[in-house]
Amino acid sequence: MKQLKPSPTVAISAKAHLLSKEGIKVYNFGVGDPILPNHPAILDAAAQVLKEKMCPYAPISGIMDLRKLAAEWMNRRYQSQYTVEQTIVTCGGKFGIYAALQLFIEQGEEALVPAPYWVSYPEMVRIASGIPVIVPTTFEGGWKLTPSLLKAHITPKTRVLLLNNAGNPTGILYTREELGAILDVAAEANLTIISDEVYSELTFDGGEFVSCASFPEHRSRVVVIESCSKNFAMAGWRVGFAFAPAPVISNISALQSQSTTGTSFTSQKAAVGALLHADEVSGYVRKAMGHRRTLFYSTFNRLFSTHIKPAPAALYFFSKIGADSIKTCEKLLDEARVAAVPGIGFGTEGYARFAFTESEEDIVKGLEALQKAWRPN
Ligand code: PLP
Repeated sequence: MKQLKPSPTVAISAKAHLLSKEGIKVYNFGVGDPILPNHPAILDAAAQVLKEKMCPYAPISGIMDLRKLAAEWMNRRYQSQYTVEQTIVTCGGKFGIYAALQLFIEQGEEALVPAPYWVSYPEMVRIASGIPVIVPTTFEGGWKLTPSLLKAHITPKTRVLLLNNAGNPTGILYTREELGAILDVAAEANLTIISDEVYSELTFDGGEFVSCASFPEHRSRVVVIESCSKNFAMAGWRVGFAFAPAPVISNISALQSQSTTGTSFTSQKAAVGALLHADEVSGYVRKAMGHRRTLFYSTFNRLFSTHIKPAPAALYFFSKIGADSIKTCEKLLDEARVAAVPGIGFGTEGYARFAFTESEEDIVKGLEALQKAWRPN
């Protein structure tokens, strides 16, 4: 049997879940799921499917209405020019990334993964028989990949750059200039860029999100990954999108036809509901998460006498935590009943990720519990 590593975010939340089942209150800052009731536009669309009493297979690449709406949404929001043939519905953003790596990585080829990275990237590269090459970034450098860092890690075996903007766990946003310079270097080396943009709507304080799809000169080498999970608070519905040149999309469709058969018909209808009211639904999520973000940081700064400024995007506070992040996070869960994700899972030891997606009451109580068990350093 092959030995695969489970996602560390799933591992910590499983432990937290186990404690909750035993009746122990856990403050779950571990999982990046915007915990909110679904917007009525989503629920009404799904209810219509239930009323019709039929839940058939959907077309492998997704129902046509959803593909059209997704392409229109991308083009309107992020200055892209995707057609339906360049758009596919996937089982969450996660399967889009997985599928793209399966297509672009052959045995022994390398994919560049800037760290801190989203936990699943390196293992997904390995599952595709490739080699993840970690490109460390620093707090001092704003946790950003630079053209020179990128150049320094390219070898004759490099095929893919996995770029995450807006970033999880750091909440970074790349500017147009920064992205353009990175894409130019990637193009010189003939790389494919898998651009994971699943937090694109969750920017705050006027932070501007720029998509890799908005550079016409690079569109032929970019695969954009999007999702309803975060932008529309629909994580459990499992609806994501990949946007890429039509031959890439046909190949992802072929992979889906041999694996997932696409995502659930009901979920796709629910996503149609979301996209028909896209700005309203994402605005609802952004507003609620914005409140929690403000509350999280103001409470944290008050309790710990710090002046930490929130990151401009996504749902996380990536904090220094102490040398052994797994040990410290276990201690936090055992002693304070606070779940956070060890930085080592993101390729950056000494840090932990706290999500501010819990209810407002739990954010305050969770941080108070945290204060009793831990001092920031
Ligand atoms: N990419 C990033 C950076 C994420 O944080 C996540 C989820 O946490 C995903 C992709 C996958 O999300 P989903 O499969 O729910 O769309």
